[in-house]
Amino acid sequence: MCYQVVERYSVCRCQYYKHAIDPCSAYGQRGHSVQEKTVLVGYACSLHSTAASSTGSSTQGAGVLPDSGYGSGVYDPAAYR
Ligand SMILES: [Zn+2]
Ligand SMILES: [Zn+2]
Repeated sequence: MCYQVVERYSVCRCQYYKHAIDPCSAYGQRGHSVQEKTVLVGYACSLHSTAASSTGSSTQGAGVLPDSGYGSGVYDPAAYR
C-alpha cells in the first residue's frame, strides 16, 4: 500500500502540507489505491488562529491607507492672501 502523508492543523483541520506519494511495489496497478496518512500539527493555521482571537474585525488594519488625512487639510498659500 502506498502512503501519502498529509499534514493538517489539529485545531481547524486545514491542510498544512501535502507530501509526495511514497510508492510501493504495487504502485500503479489496477485497484491499487494510495492511502492518505494524516499527520496533525499542533496548532491552527494563520487564518483560523487569528480569527479565534479577534472575531468580527477581519478587515481592520489590513494595509488600508489613511488617505482621508490627505486632501482635507491641504495648506494652500493662495487662500490665505
Ligand atoms: Zn502501494
Ligand atoms: Zn485553518
